Formats: sequence, C-alpha cells, structure tokens
Amino acid sequence: MIANEEAVIANSLWSATARPSEPCAELQADVSADVAIVGAGFTGLSAALHLAQMGRSVVVLEAQTPGWGASGRNGGQVNPGLIAPPNDAIARFGPEMGRRMIRLSGEAGQLVFDLIAHHKIQCDARPVGWLRAAHNRGGMTSLAQKAEQWAQHGAELTLLSQTEVAQAIGTKAYIGGLIDPRGGNLHPLNYALGLCEAARAAGVRIFGGSRVEKLQRRGQEHLLVTQGGRLRAGRVLLCTNGYSGPLHRGLQQSVVPIRSVQVATEPLSKELRDHILPGRHAPSDTRRLLSYFRMDAAGRFVMGARGGYSVQATRARLAQARAWSVKLFPQLAGVRWEFEWGGSIAATADQYPHLHDFGNGMAAGLGYNGRGVAMATAMGKVLAAWAVGRPHADLDFPVTRLRKIPFHPFYPLGVEARVAYYRLCDGLGL
Ligand SMILES: Cc1cc2nc3c(=O)[nH]c(=O)nc-3n(C[C@H](O)[C@H](O)[C@H](O)COP(=O)(O)OP(=O)(O)OC[C@H]3O[C@@H](n4cnc5c(N)ncnc54)[C@H](O)[C@@H]3O)c2cc1C
Repeated sequence: MIANEEAVIANSLWSATARPSEPCAELQADVSADVAIVGAGFTGLSAALHLAQMGRSVVVLEAQTPGWGASGRNGGQVNPGLIAPPNDAIARFGPEMGRRMIRLSGEAGQLVFDLIAHHKIQCDARPVGWLRAAHNRGGMTSLAQKAEQWAQHGAELTLLSQTEVAQAIGTKAYIGGLIDPRGGNLHPLNYALGLCEAARAAGVRIFGGSRVEKLQRRGQEHLLVTQGGRLRAGRVLLCTNGYSGPLHRGLQQSVVPIRSVQVATEPLSKELRDHILPGRHAPSDTRRLLSYFRMDAAGRFVMGARGGYSVQATRARLAQARAWSVKLFPQLAGVRWEFEWGGSIAATADQYPHLHDFGNGMAAGLGYNGRGVAMATAMGKVLAAWAVGRPHADLDFPVTRLRKIPFHPFYPLGVEARVAYYRLCDGLGL
C-alpha cells in the first residue's frame, strides 16, 4: 500500500489492488552510473528502461516508492496526442519539429501498449480507444476540429452521434463524441510497477526511500546526495513532474502543481456493469473542469475531477465527484463508495510538456498537464535519446528554455480563481 502525502487523498483504489512487487531498497552506499534519474514515475522509469536497452548503466533514485507520484494514482487513461490540436504544434514549433511532435504524441499510446505486451506487464490494459464526450455544441466543434486535423496527419478518429455515445457509455448526458482508436486504459500503478520490473530486469538499479537532497557538479560528473548515500553520474535526468521540489528551484517554478482527485465505488452488480460503460472505455468530457470516468477490472465505477489545495476543498470536490457520478448514472444511487484519492499533475503555461536541457549534462522532462500516461512514457524515450548524446535537432520533442511562472508562490490563489471561473462557464453551458 502506498501512503500518499495527505490522508484525505490516500485511500487509493490502485494501491489497494496493486500486484505484489519486489521492494526497492534505500541507497546506502557510494555508487556510480552513466545516467542518474531522479523520480520513478512513468517518465523516469521509461527513460531508465530505454537507456538500459541502449547499454547504459542507470541508477534511479526515488524519494518514496516507484509509482508513488501521479503515475500510480491517475485515471489510467492512455490518451494519444497533446492538448492542443495537432496543427498548433506546427504553427508553434515549425513544420519539421511540429510533425515529429505529432508523430511522437500520436503514437505514444501504441508505445505504452507495445511496452506492456513486450514486457508482459499485468496491468489490465484495454486498447479500446479513447472516447471524448461532448457536453455542448462548442465541445463537439472542438472535437470535430481535432478529428479533421488528425486526419491530415494520417490518424483516423471517428466522430460519434449522441446515440453512439449513449450506447458506448450508457448515459444520454452527452450530445456526441469522438473516439481515438490509438488510446485505451489500464491500471496505472500496475503499469508503473511493471515498468519498474522491466527496467530492473534490464539491469537498472532502482532505489526507493532515497530523496535526492543535493545536486552538485564535480568536473565532468554530477554528484547526487541522499540521506544514505551518494551517486556519481555523467548525465542526470530530472523526472519529478508535479512533485518537483527545492532540489531545482527553477524547475519547480516552471510548472504549477494541480490536484486531481478520484472516487471509486464497491464492485457493481452484473446488471449495473452491463449498463454502465459497456464498452469499457474511460471517457473524458469536454467541460473546462473535465470529468473522467471508467470501470476497474473488478467492475468498480471510478470518477475523476479537479481537486483542491485545502483538506476542506478536497473533501468538497470528492463529494461533488460522487454526486456527479449519480447524476450521470442514476443507477449508482445507493452504491457504497469504497475509495477516494488524488495526486498532483504539473501544468505548464502553454499546456505543452517541456523538455529542458540545462547545458551541463542535466535535462528534465515534465508538464504533461494531466495527460502523462502515454506522453510521459514517450518523453522518457526522448530523454533517453538525449542522454546518449543525440543532438537537439534530432530529438522528437523540442528543447525549450526554462521559464519561471510569474508569481509562482501564489499559485494556489491563481488556480482557485481560475477553477471558480471555469465552474461558472461550465455551469452556464458556455
Ligand atoms: C488523479 C490524477 C489523475 C490523472 N489521470 C490521468 C489519466 O487518466 N491519463 C493521463 O494520461 N494522465 C493522467 N494524470 C497525469 C499523469 O499521472 C502524470 O502526467 C504522469 O504520471 C507523470 O509521470 P511522471 O513520472 O513525470 O511524474 P510522477 O509520477 O509524479 O513521478 C515523480 C516522482 O518524482 C519523485 N521525486 C520528486 N522529488 C524527488 C527527489 N528530490 N528525489 C527523488 N525522487 C523525487 C516523486 O516521489 C515521484 O514519485 C493524472 C494525474 C493525477 C494526479
């Protein structure tokens, strides 16, 4: 069982149903490696696995346990693509890099399912596509625009009528939708634990309970200091996403940690299971404060929503998620809610993930804006390519300058103000 940072978000379905895994001991010695990785979520574990496959010696230092961060707590949606429609990447980063980003992000779901198949990871993977449900005409227009743009890049996404969405999901609450066949869903913690196992089998040394407290440059090497030991490495990858802390202040202030929370019922009766999400999709809707929902392998209904920063706000959002579930599926009235948990995602100012090269043998990949199951796995692969010396121009993701978010210390106020505004717009149906 993984203990989260706060009791109010600690009762996780994924922890309770995680498969047994070999514990990772603390670092208690002086060790060295070609590449040091800080953080054992999808980004760090994918980077480690890809580097080991390229023959590099790798040590991963994780403050808690592998999958402890967002990777072990999320909705398990495997979402291909980036948040902005694909042509936005071309407009921003130019045709060559834009196309590479489109290919990388579009194929990121397949990368996840390929890794799962190749390493025989038991994580209830369901490549049933990613369904987006439109809550109003504006939502439907934006889905149609995405489908049209993806078609220009060779991906066939299918627009769904209200009836088709109702058949797939089991509620008439949405006016239409879009299915991206390249996505699906999985048990996120078991996927993280499976990546961890695969990386260890490939020779990666992974230490848990080993928070990196100090990072120093020593000539051509980096020294990473934990309470119990020290690691020397030629290259360092910072893979700390929404849990980026004072180890690197600039990185910490380049993203805003945003809470997302989930609630899950007891296993539903066969009758309810047959009518709710019969296609076993994990849809998200088009509201500004989006809801995402799914079933787990045992037939528990899971609903996810935006969280709050205080215990009181978090409790209110958990209650709202339960109430919204019953509104969507009135059959859920009276079922027992067994789990409630959450974690931090990393939001960026431009809604793109970021790859930073600090110019001293250290790089970071983060900022998936709540879409990291597929994209963090893909970013790990790009970071691995960077760590073996591939030039920036040949990477499949742009290297961008680290920019601090203005007034960063006040982010909870800014986020809560934006949440209130979004709630108002969603409430007015805008
Ligand atoms: C509730 C919730 C629902 C979500 N739903 C979805 C979804 O359905 N689909 C989707 O695609 N994405 C979803 N996301 C986002 C997704 O989970 C993340 O984008 C992704 O897991 C990020 O992976 P990561 O490896 O970069 O970071 P994390 O998994 O957060 O890992 C960072 C790790 O760094 C470690 N760390 C931090 N500092 C140090 C240090 N100094 N020393 C050592 N270790 C350190 C932390 O302990 C942590 O384990 C969701 C997120 C949340 C919280």
